[in-house]
Amino acid sequence: MEFDMTHCTLCPRRCGADRTKAAGICGGRDSLRAARAALHPWEEPCISGTKGSGTVFFSGCVLHCRFCQNAVISAEPFGKDISAARLTEIFLELQEQGAHNINLVTGGHFIPWIARALEEARPALRIPVVWNSGGYELAEALMMLDGLVDVYLPDFKFFDPDTARNYALAPDYPQIAETALAQMLQQTGDRIWNGDLLTRGVIVRHLVLPGHRHESIALLHHLAERFGADAFLLSLMAQYTPMREDPDYPELNRRITKMEYNSVCKAAQDLGFDGYFQEKSSADASYTPDFSLQGI
Ligand code: SF4
Repeated sequence: MEFDMTHCTLCPRRCGADRTKAAGICGGRDSLRAARAALHPWEEPCISGTKGSGTVFFSGCVLHCRFCQNAVISAEPFGKDISAARLTEIFLELQEQGAHNINLVTGGHFIPWIARALEEARPALRIPVVWNSGGYELAEALMMLDGLVDVYLPDFKFFDPDTARNYALAPDYPQIAETALAQMLQQTGDRIWNGDLLTRGVIVRHLVLPGHRHESIALLHHLAERFGADAFLLSLMAQYTPMREDPDYPELNRRITKMEYNSVCKAAQDLGFDGYFQEKSSADASYTPDFSLQGI
């Protein structure tokens, strides 16, 4: 797709912002902005391995979920402007530190810059590249990453358009995320492993929300039917933590119960999904990384 910085339509918001003059809905302007680059031990075991994933957290986000677990960098302007050349250096520094992979978190609104940095790094990069996103991305934008990304790690957050509208003002989320997932699967093909580490393939994450277990189960049935339960690894997350009191959606003001999480896990197992199911005890705000411009 053609990227026009003065009329941005890079993501499904298609807000048309002139990013040389003002930020779009995503918070992105005309340069890369990142909040942290460091080895990260808390991804799925096949991504974090024993030494950690070389994670770069980008500032801003196209989704703005009302329950965001990383609001410090997604909604607030925290971070530092960097050039694509500096991002290339960061990739190589993370590789030097022993990272198992380069893990790009919520970079959808910076895809053209990131693609350039990856192209530059590629001759020296010996580790896989992981695209870690909220799943709300245009397939044509993802095509810019074809051949540059090895592992896709998208969320699939909502299945009901009303839930997506209420919690993220994005009623088209289910359809957009499904089309994006099809594109990711097409790019990666069959899963490839290096020992316990995934070096090519797709992992779909789903955070079970309080009061929404039936929606989660319906999503799993749909994905199994549409793509097949073995098309990707599934990571079912239990760590939903209310970050603030939400007066409009009080159902979001609690953690999920063991029963809710276990019922979704059982559905996933019955459908034949393979992947990662968390201990319910991991529902703790300490999973939120400390953003301090480390490594930027
Ligand atoms: S990437 Fe940002 S500026 Fe571009 S369309 Fe999406 S929200 Fe608007």
